[in-house]
Amino acid sequence: MIANYHTHTPRCRHASDSEEAYVQTAIAAGMKILGFSDHTPYWFPGDYYSHMRMYPDQLEDYCDTVRNLRKQYADQLQIHLGLEVEYYPAMFQDLLPRLRDQEIEYMILGQHWVGNEENEPYCGRATDSVRTLERYCDQIIEAMETGLFTYLAHPDLLFFTGENRVYEANMRRLCKAAKGCDMPLEINLWGLHYQRNYPDKRFWRIAAEEGNAVVIGADAHQAWAVNNVENEAQALEIVREFDLNLLQTVELRKF
Ligand SMILES: [Zn+2]
Ligand SMILES: [Zn+2]
Repeated sequence: MIANYHTHTPRCRHASDSEEAYVQTAIAAGMKILGFSDHTPYWFPGDYYSHMRMYPDQLEDYCDTVRNLRKQYADQLQIHLGLEVEYYPAMFQDLLPRLRDQEIEYMILGQHWVGNEENEPYCGRATDSVRTLERYCDQIIEAMETGLFTYLAHPDLLFFTGENRVYEANMRRLCKAAKGCDMPLEINLWGLHYQRNYPDKRFWRIAAEEGNAVVIGADAHQAWAVNNVENEAQALEIVREFDLNLLQTVELRKF
């Protein structure tokens, strides 16, 4: 990989290692581009706060840290400042100006919950609910159509155990919309590492048929995973199996 745009930091409370260690892994591997995209903070109403994202008051430090590394390593690596962001309709418009204030360069779309997260099941938990599948696809399509996201992370996160023809009809809808929005879809190496339900070959067969652009994302939660050679080989196997249209780099979308 010459570029990885999907990198976390310990602020999300399920990653480890210093930001600099991630940078050094990328340099040692001969990579050209490393984008940090930790889980965005969200300004939830009331007392609720999710356990897997930085707190709002950590955003500034996150941005400063990445910007300092960008300066420090400017002659060795192109470092970008991004976030992995869910599209939560009730709070998204409030979020945007807060991120723009910090001059975040790009957002990848990572939809881990439907609705607005609170009181909703995690999308990676097995479900045969057609309604959940439909909502997942509807919400992602609405998000992609804003034109604000650089790519869609783990589009196949939703763990649907119902009928295949229902899965296929909905995911085909998602893939067609992604194609229409010129939105690359990510094969996720962290899912491969943990042998999760994604990458889901049912999904990648459809993406191949629809001619979607594809990108490989490390989704690194530990420094070594920036250069995850073993799982990258498995991802490339999926690319070959379905003859997917793989991009080496993506254009960052300003928002
Ligand atoms: Zn994610
Ligand atoms: Zn991630």
